[in-house]
Amino acid sequence: MRKLGPGTRLVVATHNKGKLNEFRDLLGPHGVELVSAGELGLPEPAETGTLYAENALIKARAATAATGLAAVADDSGLAIAALDGAPGLFTADWAGQPRDFAAAMARVDRELGLRGVATAGARAHFVSAIALTWPDGEEAIFEGRVFGTLAWPPRGAQGFGYDPMFVPDGFDKTFGEIDRQVKHGLPPHGEGLSHRARAFLRLAEAVLEKSGDKA
Ligand code: IMP
Repeated sequence: MRKLGPGTRLVVATHNKGKLNEFRDLLGPHGVELVSAGELGLPEPAETGTLYAENALIKARAATAATGLAAVADDSGLAIAALDGAPGLFTADWAGQPRDFAAAMARVDRELGLRGVATAGARAHFVSAIALTWPDGEEAIFEGRVFGTLAWPPRGAQGFGYDPMFVPDGFDKTFGEIDRQVKHGLPPHGEGLSHRARAFLRLAEAVLEKSGDKA
């Protein structure tokens, strides 16, 4: 598979500023030039897939087709065990339009309450599928997960989406309270912690130029 490196122009196929910031944190240090679908005014394709990977591919392919550039897209979600994996593929939809994540988190608490399950301590995991598409049709998918428990009420103002109600295993703080360097596993924090950082590590392993690679 070809490499991404300094000078590569890459479209980040998202209109979500939180995700864009995370991709900038993860790819910026590698010299890749990032431009987002939002900044280019590209339309958002309908996410009609039944898997995270399919939806990620739909978004990345649309951005590559519209620009002739390589593109990367993430499709992600929160799966709550006591809700049989919901909201899952509908994680963003639970926030309505315009997006309101305080309301989405309140819905999680309500739905768990209807099942007689306490929100605080309920098991959950985030999933991220990252698709990478090239103009000649080459494609790849990378996945990552992070397991943890829910917090209630939500805590912390960092991050985005459902971050204030998710406590990754091994921590007592929510993603809303954890420093983003730690969430992303950026130096000096070592391995990726979040689902997206873990998917990204796989992408990095496969396609980022390492010093010593031929140009
Ligand atoms: P989509 O991938 O754009 O369909 O939406 C995924 C949704 O999952 C986002 O809108 C967020 O609400 C949520 N999500 C994904 N990753 C994270 C994360 O790292 N923290 C908090 N919420 C997330």
